[in-house]
Amino acid sequence: MRERVVIVGGGIGGVAAATLLAEQGVAVTLLEKGKSLGGRAGGWTDLLRDGTLFEMERGTVRFCRFDRNARALLRRVDPALASLAPLDDYPLLGPDTAIGSITKLRAADLLRRASAGRVRDLIKSDLRRASLLLSFDPEDTYRRLDATPARTFLNELRFPPAASAVIQGLVGHATFDAFDRYSAAEMVSLFQYCLGADAAGLELDVLRGPASARLWQPLADYLSERGARVATRCEVLAVERTNGLVVRYRSRGVLQTAGADAMILAADIPSIRKLVAASPDLAVAAPGLRSLEISLPMVTWRVWLDRPVRPERAPFAVTTGLGMLDAIAVHDRLSVPGSRWERERGRCVVELHAYAVAESAGDAAIRGNLMAQLHTLYPETRTARIVEERFLKKRDSPAFLPGTQASRPGVLTADPRIFLAGDFVKLPFPASPIERAASAGFLAANSILAGWGKRTEPLAHGHVRGALASLRRAKQDLFGL
Ligand SMILES: Cc1cc2nc3c(=O)[nH]c(=O)nc-3n(C[C@H](O)[C@H](O)[C@H](O)COP(=O)(O)OP(=O)(O)OC[C@H]3O[C@@H](n4cnc5c(N)ncnc54)[C@H](O)[C@@H]3O)c2cc1C
Repeated sequence: MRERVVIVGGGIGGVAAATLLAEQGVAVTLLEKGKSLGGRAGGWTDLLRDGTLFEMERGTVRFCRFDRNARALLRRVDPALASLAPLDDYPLLGPDTAIGSITKLRAADLLRRASAGRVRDLIKSDLRRASLLLSFDPEDTYRRLDATPARTFLNELRFPPAASAVIQGLVGHATFDAFDRYSAAEMVSLFQYCLGADAAGLELDVLRGPASARLWQPLADYLSERGARVATRCEVLAVERTNGLVVRYRSRGVLQTAGADAMILAADIPSIRKLVAASPDLAVAAPGLRSLEISLPMVTWRVWLDRPVRPERAPFAVTTGLGMLDAIAVHDRLSVPGSRWERERGRCVVELHAYAVAESAGDAAIRGNLMAQLHTLYPETRTARIVEERFLKKRDSPAFLPGTQASRPGVLTADPRIFLAGDFVKLPFPASPIERAASAGFLAANSILAGWGKRTEPLAHGHVRGALASLRRAKQDLFGL
């Protein structure tokens, strides 16, 4: 009989795991509570007032050039990665800082450019402490910096304000949380991923069409062709492990059960909390699940304006020091769904992102703040009328609070049949959020396959250590220093 694996959650983590397992002939059941796969990177069909159908998403998904495992997953259905369009270059915009072209930026450039060449300003920095930025080491960095909030660490560096603003603008926008709630060690890990010497971490691609058509439906078909059961609208309610593993779920109002030889929990944190509360066995197997926290709310505001923005506006820009605004995308420049339709009507669609919004902030205040920033950045929008809008505010990204690395669960649990995947999981190498989810999915599947003597997939990742950490290690190895 084929070994059976039940996967809870059809986001990138669950789908990555399902893919490796199904390829090796394992009987996979993928249970997803939503209408389709994709989770936070998924999409759905929506209707404009005039009857036009369009694809809505939580936000434009950006694949970084070094998201190796996420790309390996996409290659299953698109071997040449033809559905990825390069964001050739994009700026960092802000009142005090403007970097017109950041994709080729490296750590050393960053400091030079941000201080506008004022060596005097850099000399005032705590260079010894700053060297920690270039010294990411999976053990040492967490030991030294995990308990420190990223904001405190940045202040201690005494960088020129422009340099701090740039670090916050570039690395901060990938954390989805406020810097005073974010571990400095995680910040250094992301810095290594985005700006380390070997990294092309700021080079981004976007999907040429809706994520559902380019990514999720082809992956669902790929899985079905390999014998996997992909079941959407199936919410897992509880997991028991008394007589073997039993997963209880609800499918279109009917309660059902599925037995499994192994399972992978690849849900988002709010759902994991619910599931753990209903499944004491899960908390025993993975006590770290209880301490997972979520980041502050994230807002995506898509606005349809009755006129285009100026032709020179970047398709995508990250911002710093501009109130709540963290990123801005102009859809017709991004070749994303619906953009041609908008251009033909002389309109445009602008997507405004605000990460780590205070919980107390009301929707009207958020809208007001984001629109004011848009008017400052792109003054031609001041007289534009909003003809349609979609405002999404959700709180479901993982938090990486200071001092929580030790309790963060990895892929393995105390039960050799239960595994975890998703962007909340502790990984042995730096990764962006989407890459963390895909890599954790691959790692979970590999662990199961290895246990059953089946072929595993080599996991890809960039340099695990920063340039200075590697030097220090080499010195220790050579001279015992
Ligand atoms: C607006 C936005 C923009 C982003 N941009 C980027 C970016 O540019 N680059 C980047 O690296 N990352 C980005 N991210 C983050 C990235 O999308 C996530 O890291 C990634 O999609 C997480 O995947 P996941 O599989 O871990 O979790 P999820 O996508 O949350 O998937 C979990 C799935 O589990 C399902 N589920 C939950 N509970 C149950 C249950 N009980 N039963 C069955 N199913 C269940 C959920 O419905 C969901 O589909 C962005 C996120 C957002 C919201």
